[in-house]
Amino acid sequence: MENIIGYRCTLCGSEFEYKELTTCPGCGEKGILDIIFDYHKTGAVFNRSTLARDRRFDIWRYKALLPVKGEGFEKYLRVGWTPLYRSNSLEKELGIKELYIKDDGINPTGSLKDRASGVAVAKAFELGYRTVACSSTGNAASSLAGNAARLGLKSVIFVPQRAPEGKVAQLLIFGAKVVSVIGDYRDTFNLSKAAIDKYGWYNRNAGINPVMVEGKKTVALEIAEQLDFEPSDWVAVSVGDGCTIGGVYKGFYDLYKLRMIDRIPKILGVQSTGCSPFVDAAGDLAALKPAEEDTLADSIAVGIPRNPVKAMRAVSESGGKWLAVSDDLILDTMRVLGRMEGVFSEPAGAAAAAGVRQAVEQGIIKPGETVTAISTGSGLKDVKNALRAAGKPSLCEPNLDALEKSGILL
Ligand SMILES: *Cc1c(COP(=O)(O)O)cnc(C)c1O
Ligand SMILES: [Zn+2]
Repeated sequence: MENIIGYRCTLCGSEFEYKELTTCPGCGEKGILDIIFDYHKTGAVFNRSTLARDRRFDIWRYKALLPVKGEGFEKYLRVGWTPLYRSNSLEKELGIKELYIKDDGINPTGSLKDRASGVAVAKAFELGYRTVACSSTGNAASSLAGNAARLGLKSVIFVPQRAPEGKVAQLLIFGAKVVSVIGDYRDTFNLSKAAIDKYGWYNRNAGINPVMVEGKKTVALEIAEQLDFEPSDWVAVSVGDGCTIGGVYKGFYDLYKLRMIDRIPKILGVQSTGCSPFVDAAGDLAALKPAEEDTLADSIAVGIPRNPVKAMRAVSESGGKWLAVSDDLILDTMRVLGRMEGVFSEPAGAAAAAGVRQAVEQGIIKPGETVTAISTGSGLKDVKNALRAAGKPSLCEPNLDALEKSGILL
């Protein structure tokens, strides 16, 4: 970590030395910090030839660009180095030059959140915490619980009473203390905050912790490396709090500063029309207003995003675009990804590819361009909506005659 210079506040620009710090002391909760690397020092130990020799295929491959010591790798779950598939059919149907699908549902607890949680538990362990905590209805919670369990840390997770059963089941299997709060998500968040302050647990809440973005940026480092350091013209990702898209940008930014890539891809930020605060604000931070949370893509149903500065910067600095897709297009894209590419995504995971389809139709993405769509979570996370997208199977009597008459094989 000798190559980390310090922090810079994304709001006021103040710089701080590198120590345990979550947000800017002057700006409070909104003053989300960037971690600043010395790219000269980093480049001496991390470059294309060191990577070519590295036999470790998980996020710790990029340890030189992560703000943790990260020792004792064998103790951790294997997070990252997920497949980047070249599209078989969808690319042709869309008539674009190249389409890649980065399947992050393959991570150990089934979502891209493992990249942040893996780094979070490493940091908590390094700082001597024995308990980690967060409030979440979904993937952040299950990934924190899983990664903590593997490292022998305790986890305390606050969920609203209505949290989906599949994700709660993951929490319980991983041995988390699950506090099911009688109230909505805001009540849950507030109780978790009060408890974390009182008991002094490591806080993995809502993506304001700068360490989370650093973990999530590994998805961009992988995309670049898997494409031999010539990333696609566009990278599409779905957006809730804005931490993931901020991480995607930071990963490409680091590689650009290290001169390992010669341009940062245009980033397509995709939301659902049922919850689209960033799209509504049209790239203007001052215009950001709380939005309704009316979408089946629960992982991106975030009416008040907690990481708006990094999210907006990702799109504006990369010359990208904001886009909202309908829930119907998301469901249709779940079918398309499954049938054409063999990739099973939860709704928020399919949203990025849905955004690509819409962007091609609207002429935002041009036929000669190359695109990567990140599938951020596995479809098994949300079986209810998968069945809504795909329909139910037909029943058949157990004989060949009935099978032929049933029409199932037609
Ligand atoms: C969390 C999540 C997102 C969005 O990430 P943010 O950091 O909240 O913007 C997208 N897809 C899935 C599957 C997620 O779990
Ligand atoms: Zn500040």
